[in-house]
Amino acid sequence: MSRAIKKIVIAGGGTAGWMTAAALSKLMGEQLDITLVESEAIGTVGVGEATIPTLVFFHRLLGIDEAEFLAATQGTYKLGIRFENWRDLGRDYLHAFGVTGKDCWACGFQHFWLRARQLGIAGDFGEYCLERRAAEEKKFSHLPNNGLNYAFHFDASLYARYLRQFSERHGVTRLEGRIERVDLQPDSGYIRALKLDSGREVAGDFFIDCTGLRALLIEKALHTGFESWSHWLPCDSAVAVQTESVAPPVPFTRSIARESAWQWRIPLQHRVGNGLVYASDYQSDDAARAQLLDNIEGKPLIEPRLIRFQTGRRRKQWHKNCLAVGLSSGFLEPLESTSIHLIQQNIVRFLRFFPQTEIRQIEVDEFNRLADFEMERIRDFIILHYKVTERSDTDFWRHCRQMSVPDSLAAKIDMFRETGHVYREGNELFVDSWQQVMLGQGLVPERYHPLVDTMPEQELADFIRQIKAGVDNTLAGLKEHNAYLDGFLSGAMRRAG
Ligand code: FAD
Repeated sequence: MSRAIKKIVIAGGGTAGWMTAAALSKLMGEQLDITLVESEAIGTVGVGEATIPTLVFFHRLLGIDEAEFLAATQGTYKLGIRFENWRDLGRDYLHAFGVTGKDCWACGFQHFWLRARQLGIAGDFGEYCLERRAAEEKKFSHLPNNGLNYAFHFDASLYARYLRQFSERHGVTRLEGRIERVDLQPDSGYIRALKLDSGREVAGDFFIDCTGLRALLIEKALHTGFESWSHWLPCDSAVAVQTESVAPPVPFTRSIARESAWQWRIPLQHRVGNGLVYASDYQSDDAARAQLLDNIEGKPLIEPRLIRFQTGRRRKQWHKNCLAVGLSSGFLEPLESTSIHLIQQNIVRFLRFFPQTEIRQIEVDEFNRLADFEMERIRDFIILHYKVTERSDTDFWRHCRQMSVPDSLAAKIDMFRETGHVYREGNELFVDSWQQVMLGQGLVPERYHPLVDTMPEQELADFIRQIKAGVDNTLAGLKEHNAYLDGFLSGAMRRAG
């Protein structure tokens, strides 16, 4: 379609809608006229409070002040996720954000560690990862040159509110109202306008669907189609509740595997976010609710909320003059806190491919190809946690162990088992994480790279010891997480006067 894109309409004001509005207004606000429509009566999904380190860079791109953001959202720092009972009952590990050990040109650190482990001269894999050790010791500090990889936990509704203020300051117009109809242009099938319950019409050149699981534009109006991945990821429901804090917040998320489900705990400054993700084929809603309430620590602050979802992706994230961002684009369960990352990826990719003068199909196709690849790799990483387990105590876990997995994942598992290698393909998100989770889930490679055998045993011992000493040394300089957070926030307030 040959037409300059000037007027952008964002449908929906959850995390996806306001992140999109914030980025477009800050980075292209002078060239665009941006309107966001949301309905307070419908509200937002109300979860989505744990993130991964890429959010730090998104905030830097937008010039968001970290202390101001943490204060506004009751945020805390996050260094990783502790997976409890995932490998087997009573067997825990921590998937941390950092890099473990030190690679050499020919092979990754895991090869050196595997031989050292066989020789009895190495500790747990995680001992060589600063973020993992800091999380375990509940420590945090900012280090120069991004020396400590971190992300955040935050209150999702406060985050949307914070980004709303940010976006309105940068010129976004917010309209309150329920979208009742999506009007298409008869010739092209492009979206022409949204019709609100007030009778108002909101026309635009380009529409961003942030209407959450409803997917009002990309699916209900444009019928783009959905590819289900529920045969690989059997969970389809969640029950969520917020509780009072009973202890200072720790700098990691907890993911606790249950009989046919897993439970999250996300510590914020003022409360804890809790939820149980479960498979309704294996557990009733009442049983899930009871299991969640039996396993929380503080007093509930709200009634538990039930959320149904279907795992999978929209067949096209960008179709005609509509881009899906957030839950409207597909859903992967929050096991590795990747949804907000996928939101920002679609936003940043859209900015790169921004159709200044016209929408070119070649760009749309490339956008969709990159988005598909990214989401498939994250999907594989999530399935890995279910597939590679030693649990066989319930039908659910027996099913997970036996289920088939995507070929791309099967190849990755076989490669690691047989050779110890993990290869990064294209721009995929997780790298070191694969080793951490595969080893954590009990998958130990059968061999290591032969290069490692050329290293004399004493040299290997020194190499391993030096890495550990480096981690110990940096760790000693970090502060207790909560004390650091308090100091960081009050320091920033003092500076702001
Ligand atoms: P929503 O929050 O549902 O927002 C939809 C918006 O559209 C709302 O403003 C709504 O009012 C509006 N809307 C809908 N219909 C209409 C209409 N007819 N008219 C006008 N407005 C309308 N992600 C993470 O990264 N980390 C996590 O820890 C995490 N945990 C999760 C746990 C669960 C159980 C679930 C289900 C998701 C989780 N996610 C997580 C995903 C995360 O919650 C979402 O990616 C994020 O909140 C974005 O949601 P959204 O903005 O797309 O949708």
